[in-house]
Amino acid sequence: MPKDFLQGAKPSYDIVVIGSGLAGLTAANILGRAGYSVLLLEQHYKLGGMATWFKRPGGHIFDVSLHGFPAGMIKSCKRYWSEQIADSIVPLRSIRFDNPMFSLSTTYNRDDFTKLLIERFGIAPEAVKAFFDTARGMNFYDDQSLTTGQLFERFFPGREDVVRLLMEPIVYANGSTLEDPAITYGIVFSNFMSKGVYTFEGGTDRLIELMREQLEANGVDVRIKADAQRIHVENGRVAGVTVNGRRIGCRAVVSNANLRLTISHLVGEEHFDRQFVDDARAVRLNNSSTQVYIALKPDERIDEDTGDLLFSSTARHFRTDLLLSRDITSRTYSFYYPRTRPEGRPRCLIVSSTNAHYSDWAGLPDEAYEASKRDLIETTLNHLERYVPRVRERIDFVDASTPRTFEHYTRHAFGASFGTKFEGLAVSRALPEQVRGLYHAGSVGIIMSGWLGAINYGVIVANDVDSLLLKMPV
Ligand SMILES: Cc1cc2nc3c(=O)[nH]c(=O)nc-3n(C[C@H](O)[C@H](O)[C@H](O)COP(=O)(O)OP(=O)(O)OC[C@H]3O[C@@H](n4cnc5c(N)ncnc54)[C@H](O)[C@@H]3O)c2cc1C
Repeated sequence: MPKDFLQGAKPSYDIVVIGSGLAGLTAANILGRAGYSVLLLEQHYKLGGMATWFKRPGGHIFDVSLHGFPAGMIKSCKRYWSEQIADSIVPLRSIRFDNPMFSLSTTYNRDDFTKLLIERFGIAPEAVKAFFDTARGMNFYDDQSLTTGQLFERFFPGREDVVRLLMEPIVYANGSTLEDPAITYGIVFSNFMSKGVYTFEGGTDRLIELMREQLEANGVDVRIKADAQRIHVENGRVAGVTVNGRRIGCRAVVSNANLRLTISHLVGEEHFDRQFVDDARAVRLNNSSTQVYIALKPDERIDEDTGDLLFSSTARHFRTDLLLSRDITSRTYSFYYPRTRPEGRPRCLIVSSTNAHYSDWAGLPDEAYEASKRDLIETTLNHLERYVPRVRERIDFVDASTPRTFEHYTRHAFGASFGTKFEGLAVSRALPEQVRGLYHAGSVGIIMSGWLGAINYGVIVANDVDSLLLKMPV
């Protein structure tokens, strides 16, 4: 008999949360803590969604998306998770850039960037101050017609090198382009600039384990290998969810699954207005990624001056589309030293990440796909030699992931790494106006994505659900 992953589940709950990405986990935790009965469904055998890790023989643990996030995570985790989680958030020490225009190390905060822009790039102090003030003053309700490219042109006309310094990490981080609304850049960039880049000590596995403990302490019914197949709508309101072939009733659903799939597959377009369906269909998905995971032999060490994060590019010019090309010229390296997991076995690991188009990988026959993966690994190792000499001799394990890998594990259409483009946010927010009790929380746009954006969006949606249920008789 196959195992019943829903054994002991109740026939109905106040809320069903579909998906255990950081937004789904956070919404479930807040609602559980508020006293609601909450069922959290995750189709994979692990919680975390893109916030994930995997283990390989030799004591190697790879983090997939733990490269860096803004200091705001400390406050959000303290408020909505626990002191213990917040206390494990620590700053990265050094961020490096290496490209044909410049090579430098920085703490990636406003003070250091101000110094760099004035002393190294020769920008007038007033222009630097005005730029930072403008970026920091941006908020979601601002004019969205100004693009990021226009913002840079206003403050640093003709300075491709300055644009590269300011933009390259944000493009790597979430696939944004110079054509996206400037607010999406300004808000994310200012979040980082306030205090630099942070990470989670102990690794993603420890974070998710601490979150699971909190969820259980707050009474959330957590189920893995629980595939939500349908969200049922009756008389314009959410009535239940079918999961692993079994129907469970609820008053509200928070879907943390891909926004477009939530609308078209889980609910069904027939439950929405024509205009809404058109808007949802027009939402562009974000790009995907490739990664190469490299573990050094247990006794091998990397000099910590190599930095924590290295934005490396061989492209002479800075163009956001080049960062997505299969013909890779730009890579972001995360270097993990033994201090990443102070309680684990001391290991040095490197993860190379590159933004990628799903279409470059999706249609490849098996053999060509494997060959393309091998090529990705080989070219990455060739490139890495300049930062980690003799790297090939020192390796214990190496593997790669592609957009197909991300699609497989998280069900994000086209392996989208950061959910949707900016227009997804309005569609996500409008869901409950279409179907009472139906919510989406998860990476949308550039603001509500990444670890911090996903957690904060989970908070916002949990509050919306709470307001609705308070008004709804049981
Ligand atoms: C390679 C890579 C590197 C990244 N690096 C960083 C970084 O350094 N810093 C940063 O801040 N962010 C980073 N991110 C982005 C960040 O990881 C994501 O934005 C964030 O984790 C997404 O959270 P989410 O809540 O949107 O859900 P997701 O992580 O997308 O999870 C959705 C969950 O829903 C589940 N699900 C889907 N359909 C169903 C169903 N029908 N039934 C049940 N469950 C379902 C999935 O299995 C998944 O667990 C990176 C992402 C990638 C891919």
